[in-house]
Amino acid sequence: MAQANPHRKPIDELTGFEVLENFEPFDQRNDIYCRSQWDPEVMSDKAEAFFRGYFMPNARSRRTDGFSQRDYALRNAAWHVTNVLRDINRQQTGRKEGFFDHFTSHEEGWPEPYVFDSPEQASADIRKVAKLCGADLFGVCAYDERWMYSGIFDERAMASKPLDIPTDLPHVIVVGESMDVDLTKTVPSALSGSATGLGYSYDSLTLLTLAQYIRNLGYRAYATMNDSSLGIPLAVQAGFGEVGRHSLLITEEYGPRLRLGRIFTDIPLVHSQPKKFGVKEFCDICDRCATGCPPKAIPFTPPSTEVYNRSNLIGVAKWTVDAEKCFRFWANQNTDCSICIRVCPFNRDYSKWYHRWWRKLAGTSLRRFALWLDDRLVDRGRHKSAWWWQRNQGR
Ligand code: SF4
Ligand code: SF4
Repeated sequence: MAQANPHRKPIDELTGFEVLENFEPFDQRNDIYCRSQWDPEVMSDKAEAFFRGYFMPNARSRRTDGFSQRDYALRNAAWHVTNVLRDINRQQTGRKEGFFDHFTSHEEGWPEPYVFDSPEQASADIRKVAKLCGADLFGVCAYDERWMYSGIFDERAMASKPLDIPTDLPHVIVVGESMDVDLTKTVPSALSGSATGLGYSYDSLTLLTLAQYIRNLGYRAYATMNDSSLGIPLAVQAGFGEVGRHSLLITEEYGPRLRLGRIFTDIPLVHSQPKKFGVKEFCDICDRCATGCPPKAIPFTPPSTEVYNRSNLIGVAKWTVDAEKCFRFWANQNTDCSICIRVCPFNRDYSKWYHRWWRKLAGTSLRRFALWLDDRLVDRGRHKSAWWWQRNQGR
């Protein structure tokens, strides 16, 4: 009799994840940003200059539109709060919080857990506080060891070290911070990187405040951002949306413009339900991100188990981006890229009724018509940095 696949879980029926027998948890050391510090395959002068450029006066501004001192000034300021929190313990302990290590800037909480009437009441309270703290999206899923890093990156040793989040915390709170839709229209540019930086900075504030609130209620809470786990699978399990061809999360509320944070906790909570609204079927007939990606890092082919290099997750059938090609492009242009976000038909301002109508259409068998409408009616070309600076000024 065939052995059951030990990596499959009932939740996969709802998310559509295809986790295979050869699945291996991901070691953060193999993340492309970590590799740029230790792997000669990825290290380069340009990569080093790329990271240095996030701090003035190393930004290497130039006359090209979107890469002026004004643009870098905003981008680097947008990252500032995240960087302060990231470095708070770095010199003393080597911890790079929010990126390699979970946040530890917390006060002592309450010794006894506050008793809620029910997990439903606790969930409603936590959701309300998360929104108050700035979360645009909120969801909860079960702890899932498959998406935890098998090791986290130790910058001092340039090696893996053990994950230090307890494994007996049953719930994961996922929060999402949206990125400015207008800034994503100026991609690629240093200016557009401000959307990413601000997403992280808002995320840090939300995560630290919410985790402290949970600790003050007398429960355990570990706030994490890019560290400790893969964010997208947990966000899908927490009901945020689906994964697109560009390997990014696509949500009903903000399309692909979202930064994610997670809190691992034991406060009693109700889990959210995974949500599908036709993204997979739409991506099957669309290739705008693959076509628009300058280094051709996004596949045109159906989801597969193909891995390009050690930065890819092994044993999950999905659309996988060639992270080496992608990062090389970032380093060459001296800022992060998000062309795949800019050109994605789901990248819309859903506060407008006609974009919500389009999303509904895209989720039906008329998806080819929806794609045709996007091609004809939406300007997905790069907008000049001056367009963004002048837009709505003086309002
Ligand atoms: S970020 Fe840019 S280079 Fe990377 S996959 Fe997207 S479009 Fe391609
Ligand atoms: S651009 Fe098209 S194929 Fe790519 S993620 Fe968006 S909808 Fe899917």
